[in-house]
Amino acid sequence: MTTAAAHTDELIALDVADGVPCNLIRVRGPKEPTKGPVLLVHGVGVRTEIWRPPTPRTLIEALVDEGYDVFMETWRASMDVPNNTWTLDQGAVLDHPVAVKKVVELTGADSIQAITHCQGSTSFMMAACAGLVPEVRTVVASAVSLHPVVTKVAKLKLDYIVPPVSRLLGYLDPRWGERGAPWLLPKALTAYCKLSRRACDNGVCKVSSFMFGAGNPTLWTHEQLSPATHEWTKGEFGPAPLTFFKQIAQCVRAGHLVSVEGRPELPESFVAQAPLTDARFSFITGGRNNCFLPESQMRTFEWFEKHDPGRHTMHIVPGYGHLDVFVGEHAGRDWHPIILGELARDA
Ligand SMILES: [Zn+2]
Repeated sequence: MTTAAAHTDELIALDVADGVPCNLIRVRGPKEPTKGPVLLVHGVGVRTEIWRPPTPRTLIEALVDEGYDVFMETWRASMDVPNNTWTLDQGAVLDHPVAVKKVVELTGADSIQAITHCQGSTSFMMAACAGLVPEVRTVVASAVSLHPVVTKVAKLKLDYIVPPVSRLLGYLDPRWGERGAPWLLPKALTAYCKLSRRACDNGVCKVSSFMFGAGNPTLWTHEQLSPATHEWTKGEFGPAPLTFFKQIAQCVRAGHLVSVEGRPELPESFVAQAPLTDARFSFITGGRNNCFLPESQMRTFEWFEKHDPGRHTMHIVPGYGHLDVFVGEHAGRDWHPIILGELARDA
């Protein structure tokens, strides 16, 4: 069993059409990989390090030990990419197809497998349904895929609070909770988040709970996180732009993903036609996900079942929320066997 200390990272720049600085990190263990490539795609406002929390065993360690050739994609929603007005359309058309093709080129593999989370999952799903990533044979999709469903409170927030707030600011940033906010309105918002969530002393946890849904907290269940990981999250969240919040609000209202930029590569609705992908999907989520309700993944699983019965799978683990699926102290025990098992089915 190796640990991150025995791993080496290789940084590979991606040639994205509009010049946004996206990249891949290829993680190698002491031995050559014996299995095919796996691409990991992070969610909104975080960065690739979200795959390597200070837990006893990370998914990256488990994948490397299992013999996979591991690639972590940094796409434009990362906090490490300069703050930009990204949309899911841009991720789907400009970033993910380039990342997938680069992995195929570097490894010489005929096809690859992917693990995608949250808005990495929705934007990757858009690319898959539009036929832009035909090289992908398996997707383990976490939290939300084709049908974003949120709580009533979160929907009200998306419709009536987030748009005016982010219209004035252009973005929302969980770091306000720790570093202080730039001026009166974000200061007032941050003060509200802190006062209304007294149980926790982590400002990033509190502001991100406001931004990304409705729950106390929204992104994990506190019981699943060690104090060290809860503290670590303070450095792992950055801004999310109005352009994203507007699009996800539109998707929630429609009940499924919609494109918003009129790009010729993407359909307007992603459920109006059969998906242009042969990939097998495994939909995973925590039973207490307060960011996107488990119903999100259930609807998408049923939709795929309708098109290709018996092929796809779904796993809902009770007691888990949104991101603790990967950063929970016991994710190695509760989630890694599920994820590795799904990848192995299409070996
Ligand atoms: Zn907290």
